[in-house]
Amino acid sequence: MIYKRSSQLFAEAEKVIPGGVNSPVRAFKAVGGTPIFVKSAKGAYLYDEDGNRLIDYINSWGPMILGHAFEPVVQAVIEKAKLGTSFGMPTELETQIAALAVAMVPNIDKIRFVNSGTEACMSAVRLARGFTKRDKIVKFAGCYHGHSDSFLIQAGSGAITFGSPNSPGVTEGTAKDTLLANYNDLENVKTLIEANENEIAAIIVEPVAGNMGCIPPNKGFLEGLRTLCTANGILLIFDEVMTGFRLARGGVQELFNVDADIVCFGKVIGGGLPVGAFAAREEIMNYLAPLGPVYQAGTLSGNPLAMAAGLAMLQTLDNDRAIFQRLADKTAYLHEGIDKVLKANNVVFTINRIGSMISVHFDARPVVDLKTAGNGDNETFKKFFHGLLNEGVYIAPSAYETWFITDALSYEDLDFTIQAVDKVAKTF
Ligand SMILES: *Cc1c(COP(=O)(O)O)cnc(C)c1O
Repeated sequence: MIYKRSSQLFAEAEKVIPGGVNSPVRAFKAVGGTPIFVKSAKGAYLYDEDGNRLIDYINSWGPMILGHAFEPVVQAVIEKAKLGTSFGMPTELETQIAALAVAMVPNIDKIRFVNSGTEACMSAVRLARGFTKRDKIVKFAGCYHGHSDSFLIQAGSGAITFGSPNSPGVTEGTAKDTLLANYNDLENVKTLIEANENEIAAIIVEPVAGNMGCIPPNKGFLEGLRTLCTANGILLIFDEVMTGFRLARGGVQELFNVDADIVCFGKVIGGGLPVGAFAAREEIMNYLAPLGPVYQAGTLSGNPLAMAAGLAMLQTLDNDRAIFQRLADKTAYLHEGIDKVLKANNVVFTINRIGSMISVHFDARPVVDLKTAGNGDNETFKKFFHGLLNEGVYIAPSAYETWFITDALSYEDLDFTIQAVDKVAKTF
Protein backbone atom coordinates (compact mmCIF):
# COMPACT_ATOMS: atom_id res chain seq x y z
CA MET A 1 0.00 0.00 0.00
CA ILE A 2 1.08 3.54 -0.68
CA TYR A 3 1.19 6.18 2.04
CA LYS A 4 2.40 9.16 0.05
CA ARG A 5 -0.15 11.67 1.22
CA SER A 6 -0.01 10.42 4.83
CA SER A 7 3.77 10.96 4.77
CA GLN A 8 3.35 14.49 3.44
CA LEU A 9 0.68 15.33 6.01
CA PHE A 10 2.84 13.91 8.79
CA ALA A 11 5.78 16.08 7.72
CA GLU A 12 3.51 19.15 7.82
CA ALA A 13 2.11 18.12 11.22
CA GLU A 14 5.58 17.66 12.71
CA LYS A 15 6.33 21.33 12.12
CA VAL A 16 3.52 22.57 14.34
CA ILE A 17 2.56 19.64 16.64
CA PRO A 18 5.16 17.91 18.88
CA GLY A 19 5.96 14.63 17.12
CA GLY A 20 3.16 15.38 14.67
CA VAL A 21 0.50 13.87 16.94
CA ASN A 22 -1.78 14.83 19.79
CA SER A 23 -1.31 11.54 21.64
CA PRO A 24 2.04 9.67 21.57
CA VAL A 25 0.99 6.12 20.55
CA ARG A 26 -0.29 7.51 17.24
CA ALA A 27 3.28 8.33 16.20
CA PHE A 28 4.17 4.64 15.44
CA LYS A 29 7.37 4.88 17.54
CA ALA A 30 7.03 1.27 18.72
CA VAL A 31 6.70 -0.16 15.22
CA GLY A 32 8.47 2.39 13.00
CA GLY A 33 7.10 3.95 9.84
CA THR A 34 4.78 6.87 9.23
CA PRO A 35 1.42 7.30 10.94
CA ILE A 36 -1.60 6.93 8.69
CA PHE A 37 -3.81 9.99 8.32
CA VAL A 38 -7.50 9.15 8.32
CA LYS A 39 -9.95 10.85 6.02
CA SER A 40 -13.14 9.09 7.07
CA ALA A 41 -14.51 5.91 8.56
CA LYS A 42 -17.70 3.90 8.27
CA GLY A 43 -18.68 0.67 10.00
CA ALA A 44 -15.67 -1.65 10.28
CA TYR A 45 -13.49 0.36 7.91
CA LEU A 46 -11.11 3.30 7.95
CA TYR A 47 -10.39 5.22 4.75
CA ASP A 48 -7.05 6.99 4.73
CA GLU A 49 -5.81 10.07 2.88
CA ASP A 50 -4.20 7.90 0.18
CA GLY A 51 -7.48 6.14 -0.58
CA ASN A 52 -6.61 2.86 1.18
CA ARG A 53 -9.32 0.95 3.02
CA LEU A 54 -8.33 -0.64 6.32
CA ILE A 55 -10.26 -3.08 8.51
CA ASP A 56 -10.10 -1.36 11.88
CA TYR A 57 -9.29 -3.30 15.07
CA ILE A 58 -8.59 -0.20 17.18
CA ASN A 59 -11.81 1.72 16.77
CA SER A 60 -10.53 4.90 18.33
CA TRP A 61 -9.07 2.75 21.16
CA GLY A 62 -12.45 1.39 22.09
CA PRO A 63 -15.32 3.86 21.78
CA MET A 64 -16.63 2.75 18.37
CA ILE A 65 -18.03 -0.56 19.64
CA LEU A 66 -20.88 -0.32 17.11
CA GLY A 67 -18.55 0.63 14.27
CA HIS A 68 -17.66 4.03 12.85
CA ALA A 69 -20.20 6.73 12.04
CA PHE A 70 -23.01 4.72 13.64
CA GLU A 71 -26.15 6.38 12.30
CA PRO A 72 -28.12 7.03 15.55
CA VAL A 73 -25.04 8.60 17.17
CA VAL A 74 -24.28 10.78 14.14
CA GLN A 75 -27.90 11.92 13.89
CA ALA A 76 -28.09 12.73 17.60
CA VAL A 77 -24.99 14.93 17.35
CA ILE A 78 -26.21 16.75 14.23
CA GLU A 79 -29.61 17.49 15.74
CA LYS A 80 -28.13 18.76 19.01
CA ALA A 81 -25.50 20.90 17.27
CA LYS A 82 -28.25 22.92 15.59
CA LEU A 83 -29.57 23.87 19.04
CA GLY A 84 -26.28 25.22 20.38
CA THR A 85 -23.01 23.48 21.19
CA SER A 86 -22.34 24.49 24.80
CA PHE A 87 -24.14 26.41 27.52
CA GLY A 88 -22.31 25.97 30.81
CA MET A 89 -25.77 25.42 32.29
CA PRO A 90 -27.68 22.23 33.08
CA THR A 91 -29.61 20.39 30.36
CA GLU A 92 -32.21 17.62 30.61
CA LEU A 93 -29.98 15.44 28.47
CA GLU A 94 -27.44 15.13 31.29
CA THR A 95 -30.07 13.65 33.60
CA GLN A 96 -31.24 11.25 30.88
CA ILE A 97 -27.80 9.76 30.24
CA ALA A 98 -26.99 9.72 33.98
CA ALA A 99 -30.22 7.84 34.74
CA LEU A 100 -29.55 5.32 31.99
CA ALA A 101 -25.95 4.73 33.11
CA VAL A 102 -27.09 4.28 36.72
CA ALA A 103 -29.71 1.78 35.54
CA MET A 104 -27.22 -0.22 33.46
CA VAL A 105 -24.32 -0.42 35.92
CA PRO A 106 -24.67 -2.33 39.20
CA ASN A 107 -23.95 -0.73 42.56
CA ILE A 108 -23.91 2.96 41.58
CA ASP A 109 -26.44 5.63 42.60
CA LYS A 110 -24.96 8.78 41.08
CA ILE A 111 -22.59 9.63 38.28
CA ARG A 112 -20.58 12.76 37.40
CA PHE A 113 -19.57 13.43 33.79
CA VAL A 114 -16.16 14.79 32.79
CA ASN A 115 -14.30 15.11 29.47
CA SER A 116 -11.86 12.19 29.41
CA GLY A 117 -10.88 8.95 31.09
CA THR A 118 -7.90 10.75 32.58
CA GLU A 119 -10.17 13.24 34.31
CA ALA A 120 -12.44 10.46 35.53
CA CYS A 121 -9.60 8.53 37.21
CA MET A 122 -7.94 11.66 38.59
CA SER A 123 -11.23 12.81 40.11
CA ALA A 124 -12.08 9.35 41.46
CA VAL A 125 -8.79 9.28 43.36
CA ARG A 126 -9.35 12.76 44.79
CA LEU A 127 -12.83 11.73 45.89
CA ALA A 128 -11.47 8.55 47.51
CA ARG A 129 -8.81 10.54 49.35
CA GLY A 130 -11.35 13.10 50.54
CA PHE A 131 -13.80 10.41 51.63
CA THR A 132 -11.28 8.25 53.51
CA LYS A 133 -9.09 11.15 54.71
CA ARG A 134 -6.04 9.16 53.62
CA ASP A 135 -3.34 10.06 51.05
CA LYS A 136 -1.85 6.94 49.49
CA ILE A 137 -3.16 4.88 46.60
CA VAL A 138 -2.17 1.51 45.17
CA LYS A 139 -1.95 1.07 41.41
CA PHE A 140 -0.81 -1.92 39.37
CA ALA A 141 2.23 -1.87 37.09
CA GLY A 142 1.05 -1.86 33.47
CA CYS A 143 -2.45 -0.60 34.26
CA TYR A 144 -3.15 2.76 32.62
CA HIS A 145 -5.40 5.31 34.25
CA GLY A 146 -4.68 8.30 32.05
CA HIS A 147 -1.86 10.79 32.28
CA SER A 148 -2.46 12.63 35.54
CA ASP A 149 0.60 12.89 37.81
CA SER A 150 -0.38 10.27 40.42
CA PHE A 151 -0.54 7.53 37.78
CA LEU A 152 2.72 8.20 35.91
CA ILE A 153 4.62 6.09 38.37
CA GLN A 154 6.99 3.16 37.97
CA ALA A 155 8.51 0.74 40.46
CA GLY A 156 10.86 2.57 42.77
CA SER A 157 14.47 1.45 43.02
CA GLY A 158 14.95 -0.77 46.02
CA ALA A 159 12.24 0.35 48.41
CA ILE A 160 9.29 -1.91 47.85
CA THR A 161 6.65 0.54 49.02
CA PHE A 162 7.38 3.75 47.13
CA GLY A 163 6.90 4.43 43.45
CA SER A 164 9.07 6.82 41.49
CA PRO A 165 8.06 9.20 38.66
CA ASN A 166 8.22 7.68 35.17
CA SER A 167 7.99 11.05 33.46
CA PRO A 168 9.93 14.23 34.10
CA GLY A 169 7.53 16.78 35.50
CA VAL A 170 6.00 14.37 38.02
CA THR A 171 7.36 15.25 41.44
CA GLU A 172 8.90 12.84 43.94
CA GLY A 173 6.35 14.19 46.40
CA THR A 174 3.48 12.97 44.22
CA ALA A 175 5.21 9.67 43.50
CA LYS A 176 5.60 8.80 47.17
CA ASP A 177 1.82 8.60 47.56
CA THR A 178 1.42 6.02 44.78
CA LEU A 179 2.32 2.45 45.72
CA LEU A 180 2.94 0.01 42.92
CA ALA A 181 1.78 -3.63 42.87
CA ASN A 182 1.96 -6.46 40.34
CA TYR A 183 -1.25 -7.31 38.49
CA ASN A 184 -2.80 -10.62 39.51
CA ASP A 185 -0.61 -10.72 42.65
CA LEU A 186 -2.74 -10.54 45.81
CA GLU A 187 0.18 -11.32 48.15
CA ASN A 188 1.95 -8.26 46.83
CA VAL A 189 -1.10 -6.11 47.61
CA LYS A 190 -1.34 -7.60 51.12
CA THR A 191 2.28 -6.69 51.80
CA LEU A 192 1.70 -3.09 50.69
CA ILE A 193 -1.38 -2.78 52.89
CA GLU A 194 0.46 -4.15 55.94
CA ALA A 195 3.39 -1.78 55.39
CA ASN A 196 1.04 1.23 55.05
CA GLU A 197 -1.58 0.56 57.68
CA ASN A 198 -4.46 3.09 57.72
CA GLU A 199 -2.74 5.19 55.05
CA ILE A 200 -4.21 3.81 51.82
CA ALA A 201 -7.26 5.63 50.47
CA ALA A 202 -7.86 3.50 47.39
CA ILE A 203 -6.74 0.64 45.21
CA ILE A 204 -7.30 1.48 41.56
CA VAL A 205 -7.31 -1.35 39.03
CA GLU A 206 -8.28 -2.12 35.46
CA PRO A 207 -10.51 -5.06 36.46
CA VAL A 208 -9.68 -6.57 33.08
CA ALA A 209 -6.36 -5.07 32.02
CA GLY A 210 -6.19 -3.75 28.48
CA ASN A 211 -3.19 -1.47 28.38
CA MET A 212 -0.47 -4.14 28.47
CA GLY A 213 -2.27 -6.24 25.91
CA CYS A 214 -5.43 -7.88 27.17
CA ILE A 215 -4.95 -9.52 30.58
CA PRO A 216 -8.01 -10.93 32.35
CA PRO A 217 -7.88 -11.16 36.14
CA ASN A 218 -6.87 -14.54 37.58
CA LYS A 219 -9.59 -16.42 39.38
CA GLY A 220 -10.06 -14.82 42.79
CA PHE A 221 -7.97 -11.71 42.10
CA LEU A 222 -10.83 -9.19 42.01
CA GLU A 223 -12.66 -10.96 44.85
CA GLY A 224 -9.42 -10.86 46.87
CA LEU A 225 -9.02 -7.13 46.26
CA ARG A 226 -12.62 -6.60 47.38
CA THR A 227 -12.01 -8.51 50.62
CA LEU A 228 -8.75 -6.70 51.37
CA CYS A 229 -10.32 -3.28 50.71
CA THR A 230 -13.35 -3.98 52.89
CA ALA A 231 -11.20 -5.30 55.75
CA ASN A 232 -8.89 -2.27 55.68
CA GLY A 233 -11.24 0.66 55.03
CA ILE A 234 -9.83 1.12 51.52
CA LEU A 235 -12.01 2.12 48.56
CA LEU A 236 -11.80 -0.16 45.52
CA ILE A 237 -11.79 1.81 42.26
CA PHE A 238 -12.54 -0.11 39.07
CA ASP A 239 -11.17 1.80 36.12
CA GLU A 240 -13.68 0.66 33.51
CA VAL A 241 -12.75 3.33 30.98
CA MET A 242 -11.97 0.52 28.54
CA THR A 243 -14.23 -2.27 29.80
CA GLY A 244 -17.34 -0.30 30.77
CA PHE A 245 -20.31 -0.85 28.42
CA ARG A 246 -18.01 -3.20 26.47
CA LEU A 247 -17.56 -6.48 28.35
CA ALA A 248 -21.13 -6.51 29.66
CA ARG A 249 -24.08 -4.13 29.98
CA GLY A 250 -22.95 -3.42 33.55
CA GLY A 251 -19.21 -3.81 32.92
CA VAL A 252 -16.80 -5.98 34.89
CA GLN A 253 -18.75 -5.58 38.15
CA GLU A 254 -21.57 -7.48 36.44
CA LEU A 255 -19.34 -9.91 34.56
CA PHE A 256 -17.38 -11.07 37.63
CA ASN A 257 -20.01 -10.21 40.23
CA VAL A 258 -17.59 -8.12 42.28
CA ASP A 259 -18.61 -4.70 43.63
CA ALA A 260 -16.32 -1.71 43.33
CA ASP A 261 -16.72 1.42 45.46
CA ILE A 262 -16.04 3.87 42.63
CA VAL A 263 -16.21 3.12 38.91
CA CYS A 264 -14.55 5.17 36.15
CA PHE A 265 -15.81 5.37 32.59
CA GLY A 266 -14.66 6.79 29.27
CA LYS A 267 -14.43 5.63 25.66
CA VAL A 268 -17.75 3.83 24.88
CA ILE A 269 -19.78 6.08 27.21
CA GLY A 270 -19.05 9.04 24.94
CA GLY A 271 -19.89 7.36 21.64
CA GLY A 272 -16.67 8.79 20.16
CA LEU A 273 -16.92 12.27 21.67
CA PRO A 274 -14.70 13.41 24.55
CA VAL A 275 -16.45 12.01 27.62
CA GLY A 276 -15.44 10.42 30.88
CA ALA A 277 -17.43 9.78 34.04
CA PHE A 278 -17.08 8.43 37.55
CA ALA A 279 -19.77 6.91 39.66
CA ALA A 280 -20.39 5.43 43.10
CA ARG A 281 -23.03 4.90 45.71
CA GLU A 282 -24.73 8.00 47.09
CA GLU A 283 -22.77 8.24 50.32
CA ILE A 284 -19.51 8.62 48.37
CA MET A 285 -20.79 10.79 45.50
CA ASN A 286 -22.37 13.25 47.93
CA TYR A 287 -18.83 14.10 49.04
CA LEU A 288 -18.39 16.01 45.77
CA ALA A 289 -18.91 19.75 45.37
CA PRO A 290 -21.41 21.40 45.49
CA LEU A 291 -22.89 18.94 48.03
CA GLY A 292 -19.66 18.01 49.73
CA PRO A 293 -16.12 19.26 50.31
CA VAL A 294 -14.23 17.55 47.44
CA TYR A 295 -13.80 19.99 44.56
CA GLN A 296 -14.28 18.89 40.97
CA ALA A 297 -15.55 20.89 37.97
CA GLY A 298 -15.47 21.35 34.17
CA THR A 299 -16.52 24.12 31.76
CA LEU A 300 -17.44 21.61 29.05
CA SER A 301 -18.46 18.72 31.33
CA GLY A 302 -21.84 17.36 30.27
CA ASN A 303 -21.51 19.08 26.90
CA PRO A 304 -24.73 18.60 24.91
CA LEU A 305 -23.08 17.13 21.80
CA ALA A 306 -21.08 14.69 23.90
CA MET A 307 -24.09 13.72 26.01
CA ALA A 308 -26.23 13.24 22.88
CA ALA A 309 -23.63 10.90 21.38
CA GLY A 310 -23.22 9.01 24.65
CA LEU A 311 -26.96 8.67 25.19
CA ALA A 312 -27.54 7.32 21.67
CA MET A 313 -24.72 4.84 22.24
CA LEU A 314 -25.93 3.63 25.64
CA GLN A 315 -29.54 3.38 24.44
CA THR A 316 -28.46 1.16 21.57
CA LEU A 317 -26.44 -1.09 23.89
CA ASP A 318 -29.26 -1.18 26.45
CA ASN A 319 -31.86 -2.12 23.83
CA ASP A 320 -29.76 -4.80 22.14
CA ARG A 321 -29.20 -7.28 24.97
CA ALA A 322 -27.61 -9.85 22.64
CA ILE A 323 -24.82 -7.55 21.56
CA PHE A 324 -22.21 -8.51 24.14
CA GLN A 325 -22.58 -12.22 23.34
CA ARG A 326 -22.46 -11.44 19.61
CA LEU A 327 -19.21 -9.49 20.09
CA ALA A 328 -17.73 -12.29 22.21
CA ASP A 329 -18.67 -14.85 19.52
CA LYS A 330 -16.94 -12.82 16.79
CA THR A 331 -13.86 -12.42 18.96
CA ALA A 332 -13.75 -16.15 19.71
CA TYR A 333 -14.04 -16.89 15.97
CA LEU A 334 -11.11 -14.55 15.26
CA HIS A 335 -9.12 -16.14 18.10
CA GLU A 336 -9.65 -19.67 16.77
CA GLY A 337 -8.81 -18.63 13.22
CA ILE A 338 -5.60 -16.81 14.15
CA ASP A 339 -4.60 -19.60 16.52
CA LYS A 340 -4.94 -22.14 13.71
CA VAL A 341 -2.92 -20.26 11.09
CA LEU A 342 -0.15 -19.19 13.48
CA LYS A 343 0.24 -22.79 14.64
CA ALA A 344 0.29 -23.99 11.03
CA ASN A 345 3.17 -21.58 10.42
CA ASN A 346 5.07 -22.69 13.55
CA VAL A 347 4.87 -19.27 15.16
CA VAL A 348 5.48 -19.03 18.92
CA PHE A 349 2.62 -17.07 20.46
CA THR A 350 -0.01 -16.64 23.17
CA ILE A 351 -3.44 -15.15 22.61
CA ASN A 352 -5.35 -13.52 25.48
CA ARG A 353 -9.04 -12.89 25.05
CA ILE A 354 -12.13 -11.91 26.98
CA GLY A 355 -15.40 -10.64 25.51
CA SER A 356 -14.56 -8.29 22.65
CA MET A 357 -10.94 -7.73 23.73
CA ILE A 358 -8.07 -9.78 22.33
CA SER A 359 -4.29 -9.53 22.03
CA VAL A 360 -1.60 -11.60 20.33
CA HIS A 361 1.75 -11.95 22.15
CA PHE A 362 4.78 -13.45 20.46
CA ASP A 363 5.91 -15.64 23.33
CA ALA A 364 4.72 -19.06 24.45
CA ARG A 365 4.46 -18.29 28.17
CA PRO A 366 1.23 -17.10 29.81
CA VAL A 367 0.81 -13.30 29.88
CA VAL A 368 -0.54 -12.34 33.32
CA ASP A 369 1.16 -9.05 34.26
CA LEU A 370 3.46 -6.33 32.95
CA LYS A 371 6.58 -8.47 33.27
CA THR A 372 5.19 -11.38 31.26
CA ALA A 373 3.65 -8.95 28.74
CA GLY A 374 7.22 -7.81 28.12
CA ASN A 375 8.32 -11.34 27.12
CA GLY A 376 6.85 -10.90 23.64
CA ASP A 377 9.24 -10.67 20.71
CA ASN A 378 8.96 -7.09 19.46
CA GLU A 379 10.72 -7.69 16.14
CA THR A 380 8.08 -10.28 15.24
CA PHE A 381 5.38 -7.88 16.37
CA LYS A 382 6.73 -5.14 14.08
CA LYS A 383 6.66 -7.52 11.10
CA PHE A 384 3.16 -8.60 12.10
CA PHE A 385 1.91 -5.02 12.36
CA HIS A 386 3.37 -3.80 9.06
CA GLY A 387 2.48 -7.04 7.27
CA LEU A 388 -1.16 -6.76 8.33
CA LEU A 389 -1.25 -3.08 7.45
CA ASN A 390 -0.02 -3.96 4.00
CA GLU A 391 -2.90 -6.41 3.69
CA GLY A 392 -5.38 -3.72 4.74
CA VAL A 393 -5.79 -4.73 8.39
CA TYR A 394 -5.09 -2.12 11.05
CA ILE A 395 -4.15 -3.29 14.55
CA ALA A 396 -2.66 -1.08 17.29
CA PRO A 397 0.88 0.13 16.56
CA SER A 398 2.26 -1.37 19.78
CA ALA A 399 2.59 -4.88 21.21
CA TYR A 400 1.16 -3.61 24.51
CA GLU A 401 -2.29 -2.82 23.14
CA THR A 402 -5.54 -4.69 22.91
CA TRP A 403 -7.57 -5.15 19.72
CA PHE A 404 -11.21 -4.08 19.96
CA ILE A 405 -13.84 -6.06 18.09
CA THR A 406 -16.87 -4.09 16.91
CA ASP A 407 -20.35 -5.11 15.96
CA ALA A 408 -19.74 -3.71 12.47
CA LEU A 409 -17.18 -6.46 11.69
CA SER A 410 -18.67 -9.17 9.49
CA TYR A 411 -17.55 -12.79 9.45
CA GLU A 412 -16.15 -12.04 5.96
CA ASP A 413 -13.99 -9.32 7.53
CA LEU A 414 -12.83 -11.80 10.17
CA ASP A 415 -12.03 -14.43 7.52
CA PHE A 416 -10.14 -11.84 5.50
CA THR A 417 -8.15 -10.94 8.63
CA ILE A 418 -7.33 -14.58 9.41
CA GLN A 419 -6.10 -15.07 5.83
CA ALA A 420 -4.01 -11.91 6.16
CA VAL A 421 -2.45 -13.28 9.37
CA ASP A 422 -1.65 -16.50 7.52
CA LYS A 423 0.08 -14.59 4.69
CA VAL A 424 2.06 -12.43 7.10
CA ALA A 425 3.09 -15.40 9.30
CA LYS A 426 4.66 -17.03 6.23
CA THR A 427 7.08 -14.07 6.05
CA PHE A 428 8.34 -14.37 9.67
C1 LIG B 1 -7.98 5.08 27.79
C2 LIG B 1 -7.91 4.81 29.23
C3 LIG B 1 -7.81 5.85 30.18
C4 LIG B 1 -7.61 7.28 29.79
O1 LIG B 1 -8.68 7.81 29.10
P1 LIG B 1 -8.47 9.13 28.19
O2 LIG B 1 -9.83 9.44 27.69
O3 LIG B 1 -7.47 8.76 27.14
O4 LIG B 1 -7.93 10.19 29.10
C5 LIG B 1 -7.89 5.53 31.51
N1 LIG B 1 -8.03 4.25 31.92
C6 LIG B 1 -8.11 3.23 31.04
C7 LIG B 1 -8.29 1.84 31.55
C8 LIG B 1 -8.02 3.48 29.68
O5 LIG B 1 -8.05 2.43 28.83
